[in-house]
Amino acid sequence: MAKLPKAFEKLIEELQKLPGVGPKTAYRLAFFILKMEKEEAQSLSNSIIDLKDNVRYCQICFNLSDEEICQICSDENRNHKQICIVEQPQDAISIERSGEYRGTYHILGGAISPQEGVGPDQLRIRELLERVEKVVPEEVIIATNPNVKGEMTAAYLLRLLKGKVPRITQLATGVPFGGDLDFADEITIAKALQSRRTLDTK
Ligand SMILES: [Zn+2]
Repeated sequence: MAKLPKAFEKLIEELQKLPGVGPKTAYRLAFFILKMEKEEAQSLSNSIIDLKDNVRYCQICFNLSDEEICQICSDENRNHKQICIVEQPQDAISIERSGEYRGTYHILGGAISPQEGVGPDQLRIRELLERVEKVVPEEVIIATNPNVKGEMTAAYLLRLLKGKVPRITQLATGVPFGGDLDFADEITIAKALQSRRTLDTK
């Protein structure tokens, strides 16, 4: 088979670094991009760089933000005494979409996974503790994903926060086990929030 032009090969190679993109999809996407108008391709390429240059992490909750402090953390109408702990920014976005929550978030940046070498030190748990000591929240909602890693993280957080927060709750199991919050629909998340259970904090 004749070799593809170098630039084409390079794009396929780069696209394959994206999650869920295998050789076939990369090939199809590269052809699609080739057929795009130059301005469209330029806009796609610019938005990737723009994302890297301009999106940062909120200094308080580590959610994605345009500014040093995100919109949620700087909103006086939100309940700053309520902190919902999630694994990734996508999870906070899903909870926001449910419209059921008026507190703040804390984004861990992942879940504990000894197999993958991710321990508490690799997550933003130290920052969480510092924040809890400073803010003294009325409630912390543990909303890690309903899977093995998420549950392990939830158990760790509960041990850590016991005695430091008067009320520790966990999202109800409306979200199917093994699933991701990220993929749960708004109604499921709203229900899981409404019927969140209080964990034993003694
Ligand atoms: Zn924030």
